[in-house]
Amino acid sequence: MQLIDGKRTATIIKEEVAAEITALQEKGAKIPHLVAVLVGSNGASITYVNAKIEACRKVGMHSTIVRLNDTVSEKELLEKVEELNKDKGVDGFIVQLPLPKHISEKKVTEAISPKKDVDGFHPSNIGKMMLNLPTFLPATPYGIVQLMERYNIETTGKHCVVVGRSSIVGSPIANLMSRNSYPGNCTVTLTHSRTVNLAEITRSADILIVALGKPEFITADMVKEGVVVFDVGITRKADKTKKSGYKLFGDVKFEEVAEKSSFITPVPGGVGPMTIVSLLKNTILAAKGKVE
Ligand code: NDP
Repeated sequence: MQLIDGKRTATIIKEEVAAEITALQEKGAKIPHLVAVLVGSNGASITYVNAKIEACRKVGMHSTIVRLNDTVSEKELLEKVEELNKDKGVDGFIVQLPLPKHISEKKVTEAISPKKDVDGFHPSNIGKMMLNLPTFLPATPYGIVQLMERYNIETTGKHCVVVGRSSIVGSPIANLMSRNSYPGNCTVTLTHSRTVNLAEITRSADILIVALGKPEFITADMVKEGVVVFDVGITRKADKTKKSGYKLFGDVKFEEVAEKSSFITPVPGGVGPMTIVSLLKNTILAAKGKVE
């Protein structure tokens, strides 16, 4: 079994991004600028946004947080999005989800200019991804793809089973794995809560990508020998023995599944750290005007 070390890979990619920014600076080009819009005071959202801004700072990228009160109206938020769309000093921006219930996430996502949509959630960018055109890939699937490249995971002709069909992880990664490119060229089965005989399907997976949000759901009897496993799930459980007061669990029962795997991502330290790196890479693409 080989561990796919997302933390280490993310550190290497951050160094590459930092070198790219230094090169841009030396050429006299502008430094990419990412803006994160944070509405309200949801603890997890604040942590995620701070981590993104800190990552920008570390690689020398400009970054700004726009904080809005959770009483902000949908109209006001849409006006802010429009202002950022027009601001030439902003290369890419994200609106951290979830949003308060009185604001339509769909409307906000669709209002972001596809050229600045570095989260890759705009329908037009999702469409481009389906057509294999240059675009911003959604951060988590992009992170998984980069891990496959860095670890030279063979994908051609393999059976890839994806558990979970969310629009931010399961559905896009299923699409990416079926594309005629590397990583890709897999035969893909996309499973969900209505799937019958899930274990039978996961047992036939050469590559298993799990994103359902149920701790330790995938057990050793659900996988075959030699499987490559990407565990996207992150669930916090209270744990008084930890300094943080909680322990993180993936969707895969790591110890027993690792014994049968050829490659596996841990939680934490697997797919998670790659998500922020993807955002940095997308912001560089945006600054270079690579996505029309
Ligand atoms: P969602 O809750 O949006 O989707 C969960 C999916 O799992 C749904 O498609 C659901 O099916 C499916 N599902 C639920 N129960 C079962 C079951 N018993 N058998 C098969 N499929 C099932 O999840 P997300 O994709 O947003 O997130 C999944 C996990 O990944 C979470 O733990 C989240 O925290 C984590 N995550 C981690 C990231 C990272 O950076 N590492 C980034 C994003 C998410 P149905 O559609 O039928 O309801």
